[in-house]
Amino acid sequence: GETIGILGGGQLGRMIAVAAAQLGYRCHVYAPEADSIAADVCAQFTCAAWDDAEAMAAFAADCAVITYEFENVPVGPLGAIDAAKLAPHPRALETAQDRLSEKRFVAGLGGTPAPFAAVDDAAGLAAAVEAIGTPGILKTRRDGYDGKGQWRIMAPADAEGLDLPPVPLIYEGFVRFSAEFSVILCRGADGDIRFFDSAHNVHESGILDTSTLPAPDAVVAQVPAARGLAGQVAEALGYVGVLTLEFFATEAGPVFNEMAPRVHNSGHWTIEGAVTSQFENHVRAICGLPLGGTGLAAKGVQMRNLIGDEAHDWPAILADPANHLHLYGKAAARPGRKMGHVTRLMLD
Ligand code: ATP
Ligand code: MG
Ligand code: MG
Repeated sequence: GETIGILGGGQLGRMIAVAAAQLGYRCHVYAPEADSIAADVCAQFTCAAWDDAEAMAAFAADCAVITYEFENVPVGPLGAIDAAKLAPHPRALETAQDRLSEKRFVAGLGGTPAPFAAVDDAAGLAAAVEAIGTPGILKTRRDGYDGKGQWRIMAPADAEGLDLPPVPLIYEGFVRFSAEFSVILCRGADGDIRFFDSAHNVHESGILDTSTLPAPDAVVAQVPAARGLAGQVAEALGYVGVLTLEFFATEAGPVFNEMAPRVHNSGHWTIEGAVTSQFENHVRAICGLPLGGTGLAAKGVQMRNLIGDEAHDWPAILADPANHLHLYGKAAARPGRKMGHVTRLMLD
């Protein structure tokens, strides 16, 4: 088969490569860290830095199609690649890499984000806190993940004492939600859109802890509106592949949190819990193939992340026939690091 290029060498790339292999494709990952965990299951091109257009062009020459498992790939060097080879289109990365542009874009399509204001300095933060109020969350506009680069501001005094990093920031009002959920869709090259069931996502300290299906009524009731918005985002971006939008379920309806132009941690349950996994559907989409069914393959599913250096009893987990264990092959466990996940299927 042909070779799929994957920009980024993390667990998402590893899981895309496994799904691609099943369909007869070879994968080649592009990553700055030598021996990425994705390279455990496919070949790697190690770049000196993300920002190297020449290296990226050389990598791309060997690939029939190129996708991303990491949304912060700099868009500049992607210009060295024939845009027809890239899926999704880099405009999706560009929009999603900056929390300010992503919120403006989604609001422009009729979505509702939390109240927000751009912040560039202490005076800007004071003005934003004054306008939006507390509690709120100050976030870096770029590069944040797993709750990194975020400061909770419970009262105006918290803002005054902050030593602001010298990067563009955004201040958001704190959303009072009854639940968090995500819409994960896959859009084929022909424009066909399939939605996975929306899981109820629970975060601990800003990091996804569990995704559970079926979701409670508070989520189910808001899924149609959230899907409507996610579908519009996909159409507006001419998107091909898996796209994720995170939402807060509130009394006033779904509030948009953020989007990820890629497969998503809250969709790992689809490997065993859906008719077709998010990874396989992503590969099908970027390779121009028909999409697979996205329905639930069990009565219920729960995905639990294995985070940090907590000791786990693997044999005990595996002794339960409902459990499926995924380990990412990361050598060093650090606090907050995603080491693997367990998916539990409820069959009756
Ligand atoms: P990810 O790993 O999902 O990319 P991230 O670092 O981009 O995470 P966010 O999704 O912005 O972080 O925030 C992480 C979590 O913090 C959210 O899932 C939610 O639980 C909480 N959170 C973030 N923003 C808000 C908000 N405005 N109101 C209430 N809770 C929030
Ligand atoms: Mg994020
Ligand atoms: Mg998030």
